[in-house]
Order: sequence, then structure tokens, then C-alpha cells
Amino acid sequence: MSMPKTIKVAVNGEISFGSKLNAKQLMTLASYLPQDAELELTTFQQLYLEVEEDKWKIIKKELELVGFHCYPVGNYVKSLRTCNFCKGSEEEGMPVAKEINRRIAGIPVPFTLKPTYTGCPIGCGEPMVSDIGVMKMKDNYNLYIGGKSKGHDAEVGKLVGEKLPPEELYARIEKMVHYYSVNGKKREPFHKFISRVGLEDFLENTSTSLS
Ligand code: SF4
Repeated sequence: MSMPKTIKVAVNGEISFGSKLNAKQLMTLASYLPQDAELELTTFQQLYLEVEEDKWKIIKKELELVGFHCYPVGNYVKSLRTCNFCKGSEEEGMPVAKEINRRIAGIPVPFTLKPTYTGCPIGCGEPMVSDIGVMKMKDNYNLYIGGKSKGHDAEVGKLVGEKLPPEELYARIEKMVHYYSVNGKKREPFHKFISRVGLEDFLENTSTSLS
């Protein structure tokens, strides 16, 4: 008898104070996994699990009912990795982080794109070394792109937007992701794509009416 086809999916709780899960979520998750199943905890605040493909729709619904967010694994925009919002939700812009995540997480791109968010200039969310990094600066937001955290050629991202209001921040990020999604070569990482296109041209092609 052939084994049922499985797929890898990523789940996490909602963007919150730290990447926490509650007991109900853990029990729900466990109820859909075979006893010997393994869960992989990634550095990007996601849990990877393998589920039977034809059961995924139903399982997803049940997981969402207890507050899980589900994302595809592979060449997609990952869910936004955030800092722990230690000074408070409003003060550190949690609603803005949720909105960024809602707009871009799960969009197919040439190579996995990792966006991060940090609620103040202390920068616990490491936005400077991310593909797309957002740093809250008092009431507005700085936007960094093209950072690279791994390898001997690790790089700090470029500041491409200073003290942006939320609507402009959303519009710029969405446009950048869509431009990369359409124009990037297969398996071309975001920072390489920006180098190939040239930062100036990239910014010109991703400017918005709000810029
Ligand atoms: S970046 Fe700022 S708000 Fe976020 S956890 Fe660090 S110190 Fe707290």
C-alpha cells in the first residue's frame, strides 16, 4: 500500500509579545500529528510540520480556530519575524507589524525572503541584516533592504526609507516584494537581485505615489 502524500507547512501563533504558544494550541497541534512525528522549530519563529496533503485543508481550519497562522514552506515570503515588543504593543507598533505580515507573508518569490520588524532602535529583531527590515523610530518607521545575515560575505542592509508613516511603509514593501516576485530569476536571493538590478533602479521601479 502506498504511503499518503505529505506536505511541509509552517505554523506559528499571532504576532505578539514574544513567540508564545498556549497549551490549547499545543494540544490541538499534537492531536493532528502521529505519535512519532517531529516538529522543527526554525530560527524564524515558525514550527515546521509534515501533514497528509489531502487532510491539510481540514487541519488548517482547526489550527486557525485556536489562533495558529499557517504559511507555505519554500520560496515564499516568510512570516514577519519580530522583536518581543518589550515596551508595549501600541508604543512599539505591533498593529503595524501585523499589517505588514498580513500583506506579504506567503507571497511566492524566486527565493525565500525573510522580513523582520523591531519596535525600537535597540533592534532586537535584527532588521539591519534582513532581506527587508523595519525599525520603529518614535512615531514612524525606517526601512532597510538587502541585508544578509549568513556567510563570510554577510552584509548590513541599506536604509532606503527614513521616518516613513505606516501607509507609505506598507506601499513600499508591497511594491518591492511584487517587483522581486515578477522580475527575480529562479532561486535568486533578494540581495543578489537588488545588486543585479542596481539599488537606484530598484528604488525607482518600486517607488509609490506616496513616496
Ligand atoms: S527592539 Fe526595542 S521594543 Fe523590541 S524587544 Fe528590543 S528593546 Fe524591546
